[in-house]
Amino acid sequence: MAVWIFGRTRWLQRFKLRSSLQRWQYRRLRQFLRQARIRFQFYRNQAGPKSAHHFSPIPNGDPAGLLQDWPPINKAVMQAEFSALNAIGLDRQSALGIARRAEAERDFRPQLQSLTIGLSSGTSGKPGLFLVSPVERLTWAAVILARGLDSISLRQLLLPWLQPLRIALFLRANSNLYEGLGSRRLQFAWFDLLAEPQQLRERLQQFQPHILVAPASVLVWLSKESDGLLALRALRQIFNAAEVLPAADRLAIEKRFGVRPQEIYQCTEGLLGISCQSGNLHLNEDFIYFEKEWLDERRFHPVLTDFSRSSQAFIRYRLDDILEIDPRPCPCQTSRLRIKQVVGRADEVLYFQRSAARDSSGGPGAPGDASAWQPLFPDSVRQLMYSSAAVIRDYQITQYADRLVLQLDLPTTAQSDQVVARIRKDWQQRLKQLQLMCPPIVIQAWQAREPGAKQIRIRSLIKAVDRI
Ligand SMILES: [Zn+2]
Repeated sequence: MAVWIFGRTRWLQRFKLRSSLQRWQYRRLRQFLRQARIRFQFYRNQAGPKSAHHFSPIPNGDPAGLLQDWPPINKAVMQAEFSALNAIGLDRQSALGIARRAEAERDFRPQLQSLTIGLSSGTSGKPGLFLVSPVERLTWAAVILARGLDSISLRQLLLPWLQPLRIALFLRANSNLYEGLGSRRLQFAWFDLLAEPQQLRERLQQFQPHILVAPASVLVWLSKESDGLLALRALRQIFNAAEVLPAADRLAIEKRFGVRPQEIYQCTEGLLGISCQSGNLHLNEDFIYFEKEWLDERRFHPVLTDFSRSSQAFIRYRLDDILEIDPRPCPCQTSRLRIKQVVGRADEVLYFQRSAARDSSGGPGAPGDASAWQPLFPDSVRQLMYSSAAVIRDYQITQYADRLVLQLDLPTTAQSDQVVARIRKDWQQRLKQLQLMCPPIVIQAWQAREPGAKQIRIRSLIKAVDRI
């Protein structure tokens, strides 16, 4: 099964034509939705999904048409209706109990009816529960390997007289998602982010991975803190998983290890995309159908329907993530959507009010009008912070309704007064250019993150209701 998916994904289905990808999606989606209505209690009594459309004999058509009657959901609905949205009717409390016990004991083996129960770290709000079946787990591994391995790594995996391929995974929770995937040709080593940093570094040095998979913050930490202490001689590929990797950090990692980091775009909701051999991120549209909720002409919130997943229903599921599309064709020739970057999450978008100058110039949006607030996307904020003071080791920006709070991690050698003055000035100038009002900027002392905590550099606490 896994070998078939690996072969199909790597060699058979390149989807050079958008039309053939859409035909594939249409057929798969139609079949999946027919079963979903029976499999998941949440949809059994819904009027919409019963529409005759799903039984139409038309062999191909627009996949969006199949979904129009299905209700959009999000993380809150998924957690509230957890038992109705999983295939075995498992209730949230029991699932939470199992997942929490596994987290506390750092023993991620417990399974229920062969399903793996995982708990996502949850950057905002409650942690999310997820279920994965053995087939889904193997599909996950097969797709990552088929799409992610370069030709040398692939050769090493397939040729029995070469060393097995060693993959180091730095992950917040192991869950048995990743255990039992190893084979004679493939060795996985799991590195628990809650372990002592020194211990992690020593184990990594000993393991000598060919491939390193870790969240961006860990890759940055490894590249900065381990100079002279870590020599990864066999390292050939690096993947950033589950965090936004800013361009400046990407360069630092590449400089340190001599390997350009690739992307695995994955979250609780599944494996959404992975870099191709040309180094560009593509969405896994042959497993997931993506609708787009546009924010401007390039950026959107993905609304996903995972037609390869049967343990839990992700149907018209809206993500908080913001993706930026890259309309250029990719040298790898796939027609799967090319993503320029994962810009960030909805709560990383800062909002500023238009300045009076713009209102008097006849622009729409009088004071008090909701449209008078303008978004500043996290990629612009990261760019501003980097170009303002490259000396900053790390930072955290929190926006409140009446102020912007900045925490800066500066080396002791830095002229901190000058850096702070420069950053203030750059913020004021940038917002002025955009004809936006700059709120008071408050500088606070740097507070180090908890070990293993998710990296959150930008956060807006302004709610939509405050912007009215
Ligand atoms: Zn490509």
